[in-house]
Amino acid sequence: VCGYYNEDLTHKTILVGDSGVGKTSLLVQFDQGKFIPGSFSATVGIGFTNKVVTVGDVKVKLQIWDTAGQERFRSVTHAYYRDAHALLLLYDITSKSSFDNIRAWLTEIHEYAQSDVVIMLLGNKADMGSGRAIKREDGERLAREYGVIFMETSAKTGINVDLAFMTVAKELIGRS
Ligand code: GDP
Ligand code: MG
Repeated sequence: VCGYYNEDLTHKTILVGDSGVGKTSLLVQFDQGKFIPGSFSATVGIGFTNKVVTVGDVKVKLQIWDTAGQERFRSVTHAYYRDAHALLLLYDITSKSSFDNIRAWLTEIHEYAQSDVVIMLLGNKADMGSGRAIKREDGERLAREYGVIFMETSAKTGINVDLAFMTVAKELIGRS
C-alpha cells in the first residue's frame, strides 16, 4: 500500500445474495462473534452495522448493510448499489439455485454499482460439507471469470469470516 489513506472515510459495504444464504448470520458472526441458529426475520427493514477493521496500523471504517426481504424479489433498490464501496455477494454451497443466481446478481451489480466497487464472492455454509452442491472450484472459476475475489465462509463456525472483511478492507485501502 502506498500513498495516503484517509481514516475518516466510511465505506458502505453491502451484503447481497438470495434469501437464506446466510447474509444476516454472517454479519452477526462478524459483529458479535457468535452464531444464532434459525432464520432471521426476512421482513425486518434494511439495517446497518458500523465496524472498524484494522489492517496493520490502518483503521478502515465499514458501514455494513444487510439486505432483508428485498432480495426475495431481487428488488434491492438501485440507489442502494450506487454509493456502495464494497459488495459481499453470497451463495450457499448447499444450494445450486443460490449459485446459479450469482450471474444475475453480478449483472445487476455491474449495471448499478460504481465501476470500482470491491466485490467478493462468498460460498457460505462451508461447514456443511456433506450437503455440498457446489464445488469450491466452481466458485473459484466463476469468481475468476468476473474478476472478483473468492472465499468459502461459514457463519456458523466463523471460518474465514474475519478474513473476508479484512480482505475487503485491504482492497479498499489499495483503491483509495
Ligand atoms: P439470509 O436470508 O441470507 O440473511 O440468511 P440467514 O442468515 O437468515 O440464514 C438462513 C439460514 O441458514 C438460517 O437457518 C441460518 O441459521 C443458516 N445459516 C446461515 N449461515 C450458515 C452457515 O454458515 N452454516 C450453517 N450450517 N447454517 C447457516
Ligand atoms: Mg437476512
